[in-house]
Parts: sequence; C-alpha cells; structure tokens
Amino acid sequence: MSNINEWKKSNRTLEILRKAQEGKYGVIAIIAYTFDQAVTMVRTAEKMKSPIMILVFPWAITSKSSGSNGELVRAISELSYRTKVPVSVHLDHAQDIELIKYCAQYLPFDSIMVDMSHYSREDNLKHTRELVEYCNQYKIATEAEPGRIEGGEDGILHTGDLEGLLTNIEEAKLFFDTGIDIIAPSFGNVHGDYGKEGPSLNFDIVKDIFKLIETDYKTDQENISYERYVCLHGTNEFSKELMQENIKHGITKLNINKLILQIYFHEMQSYYQGESGTKVGFTEAIDKSNEKLSECLEYWMNACGSSNTVL
Ligand SMILES: [Zn+2]
Repeated sequence: MSNINEWKKSNRTLEILRKAQEGKYGVIAIIAYTFDQAVTMVRTAEKMKSPIMILVFPWAITSKSSGSNGELVRAISELSYRTKVPVSVHLDHAQDIELIKYCAQYLPFDSIMVDMSHYSREDNLKHTRELVEYCNQYKIATEAEPGRIEGGEDGILHTGDLEGLLTNIEEAKLFFDTGIDIIAPSFGNVHGDYGKEGPSLNFDIVKDIFKLIETDYKTDQENISYERYVCLHGTNEFSKELMQENIKHGITKLNINKLILQIYFHEMQSYYQGESGTKVGFTEAIDKSNEKLSECLEYWMNACGSSNTVL
C-alpha cells in the first residue's frame, strides 16, 4: 500500500528540520521583505555551510510593490534551487483562507503556516484541518499555532483585545490530529517587544509537547514514522543564551524578524540620511545594509549551531 505521507520525506522544510532535530541544532527561519535580502540570506548560508528557511509574509503576495502574482516568492524559490545548501521557502502567518488556497495551488512554497488563531478555538481547528489537507495535496508541509501568541507582527493581524493563551497539552493534541507537521506553541513568547522585564518562558509546556510527540505522534495513521517539529515565534530582544536554551529543549525552527532585520533597516536609514558621517548613494546604502544583515545572520547561525552542518 502506498503511504499518503511519502512526499514528506523529500519536503525541503521537513528535511531541514529533520536534520536539525537529529543534529540537535536550530535553524534560522527569517523573514525576507525584499529580493536583495533573500539573496544575502542564501549567500550567507552558503558561506556558513548552514541550512536556512526563508519566510515571507502574505504581504509579499498581496502587495503591489512585491508582485501581486507572487513574483517575489517565485524569485526567492528560483534562488533557493540554485544553491548547494538546503533552503526552503515558507509562508508565515497566513491568515486568509482563500489566500492560503491560492498559494498552495499556484506558488512554489515548501511549507505554510496556517494561522487561524484569530478565530474561536473550534473554528481555528476546523479551518486548520481543512487547510492542512488542502496544502498536503500539493505536497506542502504545514505549521499551526494552538493557543494564541500575543501581539502582532508587521502586516499581520494584531490579536488586539483577544488575550494571549498559553498552549495546553489537550490543545496541542487536537492540533497534531489535524495533521500539522510543525507546532508553534504559546509559552510566554510574544510578537513584538517584551518591555523592561524581558522574555519569561514556560519551558514545561515545551517539554510536555515533546513528551506527547514521543508517546503519541511518532507515526502517522498508517503507522509510518515521521517527525513533528516545534517552532519558536517572537524572538525580538532574545539573547544568545535564551535562544540556545530553546534549542536545548528541542526547538528546531527559530523565527526571526526584527532581531536581525532592524539592523538592516537601521543601517539603510543611517547611510542614506548620512547619520554615519557620510551620505552615500542608494546602491551603496543597499550594499552596506546587506553586509550588516549578513554579519548578524552569521552570528545567529553560529549561536544556533547550524554553521558547518552542510558538508
Ligand atoms: Zn510569528
């Protein structure tokens, strides 16, 4: 009998996470807003002999400036196949049902975060189940967020007056039952800034999720073994030590946005406006900003242990 999940063995996102889980390191999953950033990310991964996941927000598909026919996504995908290091292309925080279906059917994504966390729990589960099945038809892996990670990201619906809810084990179970491959738990992490107190994470929730995977979710319905992975959202202001603690607890996909990209944008602004002492042209500002992005990415690849893992 053929196994319905056979394609998962060669899905690029799942392959990257499988190796990270085996090697006990973390993989940077970073948002690209522009093509020059994506190029820098892939070139840095090559230099560091590291895998990388490139994420885009739905904005990359809906915005006129990045190509409302998915041009930016297609260009990043093309780039991801023209390199020897493992790169996958992932749609982060996809909250619109029709957009998810469009992306699954027409765009070259390896994985999609089906984020229905702005719905009630019942509707969140119902939509997630349907969309996981839809994406899987096109051999696209899926991620979802049980509970609710507080805050909002650039272009992503703010949870607003909806309270952040920590993930409980019952909920994690219900979400694994929908067939998701990657779970993004809410365990004290928030989207946006942490404020004076800094992050305070409840790792017991992460431990319980791994216990659950170990006991109940090491195989699919046909008894074929495959892994489930845990993803960390909300890494703004994280220290190297805190990131490493997350990896020690088994988290393999580390979503990074502002932690690295604010350095790019700050650099762009300061060069272009002449804050660094010399006002430079736009092309030079782009190059300088990407040099900073690369430096910063190198630092985090070393910190997460993914450097030199690609032979
Ligand atoms: Zn997120």
